[in-house]
Amino acid sequence: MNGLACPRCAQVDQVQSAQSVYGAQSGTSHSTGVAYGAVIGAGPMAMGMTTHGTHISNLAQRLTPPPAPRRRSAWNCGVVALFAALIVMGLLGLGGYLLHDSESESADRAVGLAVAITFFSLIPIAFVLFLIQGRRLKRHYEDYAAVWPTMMHVWQSAMICLRCHGAFFPADTIQTGIDPGHLIPLDAFRDTVVDVGNRIALAARIPPAQRSIPPGPTD
Ligand SMILES: [Zn+2]
Repeated sequence: MNGLACPRCAQVDQVQSAQSVYGAQSGTSHSTGVAYGAVIGAGPMAMGMTTHGTHISNLAQRLTPPPAPRRRSAWNCGVVALFAALIVMGLLGLGGYLLHDSESESADRAVGLAVAITFFSLIPIAFVLFLIQGRRLKRHYEDYAAVWPTMMHVWQSAMICLRCHGAFFPADTIQTGIDPGHLIPLDAFRDTVVDVGNRIALAARIPPAQRSIPPGPTD
């Protein structure tokens, strides 16, 4: 059987790579509209034509590749505004403490001092919290950036049968651990790409000699 044949209908005529279906249906290709216009009422594509709007965008959405790794900083405008607010509140408290210096205003002095101490001591605490958050985001980014090329390879290897509305990975193209006779529902396609990519990347990190040996005593 042809490795590119759909596992369900065993035909190749409606099989295309996920990449080309996505490219054609995500609105990036200008020739798509013309091609669809030319096949009105002619064969299998006619069904796609009648539901042009939602059908096509849904399909492209379900075939979206894993997003490219994007470095996010913990230090955004909101965080800067928060630190500015803490400093302003601390200064207001300090101002209250320094400006109320007569005996009759001792209560106001105490309040000003308490406010200043509270907000100024929140600054280093917030700083440490955002430092931790920044490290967490960095680790997330590095972990994802390490597996993303594998996920993209998996995505590029996927084939779609437009007749059966499912995806599969030709066994002679990529070893995914998924039964090549199983047609993956398109709703599960993106999760499957992420899962398979993670699994392949993990297997590649473990030296072959250690793959199936249970961990021994540590001493
Ligand atoms: Zn099929």
